[in-house]
Amino acid sequence: MVMPTTPDPLSHYGRQVIDDADVAAVAEALRGEFLTTGPQVAAFEAEFAEAVGAKHAVACANGTAALHLALLALGVGEGDLCIVPSTTFLATANAVRYVGGEVLFADVDPASGLMTPYTLSVAIHRAGVKAVKAVLPVHLRGEVCELPALKALAQSAGGVLVEDAAHALGSTMTFNGAEPERVGDNAHSAATTFSLHPVKTITTGEGGVVTTGDAALAKRLRTLRSHGMTKPEGADPWVYEMAEPGFNYRLPDINCALGRSQLNKLPGFVDKRRTLAAAWRAALAPLAPAVTPAAAMDWSDAALHLMTVLIDFEGLGVSRAQVVERLAARGVASQVHYIPVHTQPYYRARYGEIDLPGARAWYDRCLSLPLHPGMSEADVARGAAALAEAIGA
Ligand SMILES: *Cc1c(COP(=O)(O)O)cnc(C)c1O
Repeated sequence: MVMPTTPDPLSHYGRQVIDDADVAAVAEALRGEFLTTGPQVAAFEAEFAEAVGAKHAVACANGTAALHLALLALGVGEGDLCIVPSTTFLATANAVRYVGGEVLFADVDPASGLMTPYTLSVAIHRAGVKAVKAVLPVHLRGEVCELPALKALAQSAGGVLVEDAAHALGSTMTFNGAEPERVGDNAHSAATTFSLHPVKTITTGEGGVVTTGDAALAKRLRTLRSHGMTKPEGADPWVYEMAEPGFNYRLPDINCALGRSQLNKLPGFVDKRRTLAAAWRAALAPLAPAVTPAAAMDWSDAALHLMTVLIDFEGLGVSRAQVVERLAARGVASQVHYIPVHTQPYYRARYGEIDLPGARAWYDRCLSLPLHPGMSEADVARGAAALAEAIGA
């Protein structure tokens, strides 16, 4: 038998929190009639939709599949132009390539790492006369992009927004004095995608969700998630039809049972993340201006996924590699989110050299410190002390 271990909370930049209720939920699902595509899936989808204020939620295999399904269901295809911020995980851009679309990389604000109305308008200008099919803002770290302005710009270029909210489950926002909204409610977008990977806000092991306000789109997402198979009305029981090939992107009942149990804890996880982020900000304040937390957006009440700080390595006379190594020697994990995707060999070969100074400046200075609900405020103090030593403060 493999014995469970409890690692030091600071030894991961993010990790799952699993309790006895989660274990019991999974055990119950294992003893159930279905291991996949049973009652847990629909129940999880309904509860997830409720949690984010969406009309429809479609569960799928992972966050990458969620992006792929969203673009497929929206009809993004061969040669269609999609704008993606360069500061994101590979999957946001790769999903565009899966459907044969072309990626136009937008720059980001070097203080927040987010696509902004300015960086989007520059990207749209670069598109020239070519129509833009979709714009994929990424709510990096859980901070929310300026959605109403991004939507207006996308629309004027002929496209819709698809939000990559892999980091932003539980984040809320208030635009121009309007009612507070939840990320995933699709008030500004055609669809929003989430990841349920263990580092994310809640987990199903692997898992993803697409939310949408459009019933026809939700139906299409469900069809494409399971091979593109449909049942014609009134047909014999064995009959199925396929109008276009889909994928096996289903999320099993076992995972959905875990998802339901994790969703019960979402408000607590979000509170804890907010408390820990505030503790990090207070603990790091003495290190300013050499170390500053990445910018928070006025309209966003983020359920922070990442505690990213911007460090003036040059001014401090230390390299990031040295800081990462010294933190590791003190038992503190750190990670870089992200290497600009447009600099990856594949995209360089496809689109040539592009200069995105915001994404470069962000990449030069960013470092993500541990942040997950398994941590305590004492862990934050320990992490901040380790960082002070690591930068020689
Ligand atoms: C995690 C992540 C994804 C992909 O999610 P998976 O569940 O790992 O496939 C996509 N976009 C962003 C920004 C992510 O952080």
